Amino acid sequence: MKICWIGLGNMGMPMATHLHNAGFEVLGFDLSSTPRAAAAEAGLPVADTVHEAADRADVVFTMLPKGEHVHNALFDSLALAETTSGALVIDCSTIAAADARDIAAGVVASGRRFVDAPVSGGTAGAEAGSLTFMVGGFEADIDDARPMFEAMGSRVFHAGEVGAGQSAKMVNNMMLAANMQSTCEAAVLARRLGIAPETVIEIASVSTGDSWVLRNYYPVGGAVEKAPSSHGFTGGFAARLMRKDLGLALDAAAEHGVDLTATATVARRLDTMIAEGHGDLDFSAIVRLADAADAQALR
Ligand code: NAD
Repeated sequence: MKICWIGLGNMGMPMATHLHNAGFEVLGFDLSSTPRAAAAEAGLPVADTVHEAADRADVVFTMLPKGEHVHNALFDSLALAETTSGALVIDCSTIAAADARDIAAGVVASGRRFVDAPVSGGTAGAEAGSLTFMVGGFEADIDDARPMFEAMGSRVFHAGEVGAGQSAKMVNNMMLAANMQSTCEAAVLARRLGIAPETVIEIASVSTGDSWVLRNYYPVGGAVEKAPSSHGFTGGFAARLMRKDLGLALDAAAEHGVDLTATATVARRLDTMIAEGHGDLDFSAIVRLADAADAQALR
């Protein structure tokens, strides 16, 4: 069985490498030469063109920024036509549920199969092989994909029909963003009040302020070794990608008459970061906007 992997960025590269290390035959591709070189360096077989990667593939994974990139990689490039008939396309990107359904329709019309399988766990989860997969599609297709998910993650949830994985992921990320905003505000105020980050984490992680953000992604550098804040806010989940996810949530909420006050507030904060040229920094860098002095330094 041959697997084509399209998108070797912060998430795609460690995920594809886990599949390869688990013994699957994987050929990776990225439009940009820098991730291609980094993946080759990490020992992953890499193709020079998307057509070479997709040639006679039985499975295609996409791990790309937005729906338009998934559409481009599969259809505009004509790569899908290179795969075997009946091939299984697994999109792990976070995109709109409506885009997932449109892409699924195109894939199915070509005689192939599709599941949406966005992930949670961040770059640390991708590197550790402990991601959570939220999957939408037919049970039989998910069963076929399960051994591959298990090589990259520790949990697989069947959320419902095609698009349901994306809806589950979208509400997860709304909560993540609001948790991050409140943890940033708490972290800055705690610092002003003279409480060390380690003390905040120690107390709140066994109290009612506990969260994944608090324990794994504390926004003040040095407190959590693996957190992007300890590495100059690089290499995590780009602010521009979190802003994209909140945009999907705000669009869905407008359609369904739901008031997303907290989500809208964080989206505005991210807009400020992006407008100031920091969209590629990890989204936890919004901590700098909670602190007037740091916000000045960011500019
Ligand atoms: P990234 O920007 O690091 O990587 C995306 C890669 O896709 C880039 O290397 C880019 O060159 C490549 N690309 C774009 N268009 C392409 C095309 N047509 N063909 C081939 N390659 C193409 O992004 P990431 O952080 O790896 O995130 C990927 C997806 O996963 C996004 O939808 C994001 O929202 C989601 N996600 C990210 C995280 C995280 O913590 N970084 C966590 C969960 C989900």
